[in-house]
Amino acid sequence: MDTQTTGECLVCGGETKNRCSRCLEAGLDLFFCSPEHQKLVWFAHRLLCGPGKANPPVLPPLSREEIDEARALKETPLASRALQDGIEKIAPFPSEFTLAVQLENMSVESFEFVMKHIDGPVNDCTVLSGKPLLVAALRTARYTNPVEIVALTPNALGSRFLIDHTSALISTVITTLINYRILEQPTLRLLERPWWAPLVHRLLIFSALVQVTLEVSEEGKPHKIQGRTYAAHQRLTKWLKGGMGTGDPAYQQGLARVDIVTPAAYKAFGPVHHMLMDIVRISYEHTKKLEAEAAQSAGQSST
Ligand SMILES: [Zn+2]
Ligand SMILES: [Zn+2]
Repeated sequence: MDTQTTGECLVCGGETKNRCSRCLEAGLDLFFCSPEHQKLVWFAHRLLCGPGKANPPVLPPLSREEIDEARALKETPLASRALQDGIEKIAPFPSEFTLAVQLENMSVESFEFVMKHIDGPVNDCTVLSGKPLLVAALRTARYTNPVEIVALTPNALGSRFLIDHTSALISTVITTLINYRILEQPTLRLLERPWWAPLVHRLLIFSALVQVTLEVSEEGKPHKIQGRTYAAHQRLTKWLKGGMGTGDPAYQQGLARVDIVTPAAYKAFGPVHHMLMDIVRISYEHTKKLEAEAAQSAGQSST
């Protein structure tokens, strides 16, 4: 066995040789520096750990309840987040951009066709070629109400939080790649991509850290791992913007602008998030001031 391989612990970022041995059997390098850090996110990682589950990752099939919820949301406009005047706002997409339209764009099939074939094993792509993406989009869609997104807590989300949060991130990354025409329907072939398994595992473990942070804060205790969650987000973003290990400039360019912070993650960051937003606001105000000064001096020199 190759004992020289090292990598960053998925929890703390520390350089380590320790990998999850079950996932290594499945041909996947997932680094955890210590049993303590492996245990911290084990409640999430166990869902996809080891041969038969890890590579490609086997996400749980949609429940009847999830499918019914998606049907009910068919005509609901999806929401998006945007920085407006340097302040984060939740803004709805144009009202015509509904779940039905999104699924039709993603699948190049009708909404009814997607709904008819969406249940069963997520990795069965024989009828729907981009099934893992469609399932992720569907799981993300129930958080389309902006007020709901901001108010969301692990208690309200229950046991579905992990998979839903991971799905929201999967959906963001893959739609970015589609928007930049790096991936195209009907040849998404997600399961064959070398980055697919590492991506899903990383997003799941990051989601686990978000959940742990939210749960701690819900109990009114200090956010002990808040800074760590924030740091994990920074490393995840860096990995994505570096092209997810592909070294492919197209991926690097396409993912350069990807924003993988969900409202739940923002909430988990707490003061760290506010600090971040303050930096955005201050730099925005600074830029405005410089622009105003430039405009004023240009006005003076022209008179
Ligand atoms: Zn660690
Ligand atoms: Zn594992």
